[in-house]
Amino acid sequence: MREPQCVVCGDRLTSAQLLMGDGRCHNCRDFEPAFARALSFGEYEGGLRGLIHLLKYEAVLPVASVLGGMMASVIAELLAGCGDSVPLVVPVPLHKSKRSDRGFNQAELIARAAVKRLPQRLELATGVLVRRRATISQVGLTREQRIENMRDAFQVRNHQVLGGRTVIVVDDVMTTGTTLSECARVLKEAGAEWVFAATVARAFQGGALPESVFHVGQQPAVHAEEEASEAAAVAASV
Ligand SMILES: [Zn+2]
Repeated sequence: MREPQCVVCGDRLTSAQLLMGDGRCHNCRDFEPAFARALSFGEYEGGLRGLIHLLKYEAVLPVASVLGGMMASVIAELLAGCGDSVPLVVPVPLHKSKRSDRGFNQAELIARAAVKRLPQRLELATGVLVRRRATISQVGLTREQRIENMRDAFQVRNHQVLGGRTVIVVDDVMTTGTTLSECARVLKEAGAEWVFAATVARAFQGGALPESVFHVGQQPAVHAEEEASEAAAVAASV
């Protein structure tokens, strides 16, 4: 059984928000995201968080196939009402400096594995969206500042494939939704008709802080900073 969730971004709804009656959380009411709906397989905690870490920080690439299976079920649920058109699956790109440091884009590996598993025809489009600048840490920023920080971070490279299409933007984790909303905004500006956001995991904004924020010293240095900034972004948005 699901807890009450925002019908747009999937965040948990508090009882005060439930009383508003339209099913949206206060963030979606104040700053409507550019995606029509965001859906995640599960919460960013425990085993699911461990699997994402194995892929992203330990480069255990076969894990992408497991996460791709989860992503396939998220995409299938999002596409249930999408009619006959062939949806475009667009992984959230990394900036080229980060991609070359890591050696792969985890969102792309997960999207690729998901598309292979789904029975319907989907088109994976990895070159459509590019990250043209490395964004600064979102830590401590207000929602308005985060939106401003993300603005123009992404650029569409291949406008002609987007006209009238349904697009599913894929990422590993959604925290505040600012990144996915900015991707959706530029895709729609370039002609996409509907944009959905699909992630393997959701870091709930009303939830507890990820444990690692209190144990940063025990994390391998390579991802302690990123984990801490994810955790702080969650904290800052509460
Ligand atoms: Zn919401």
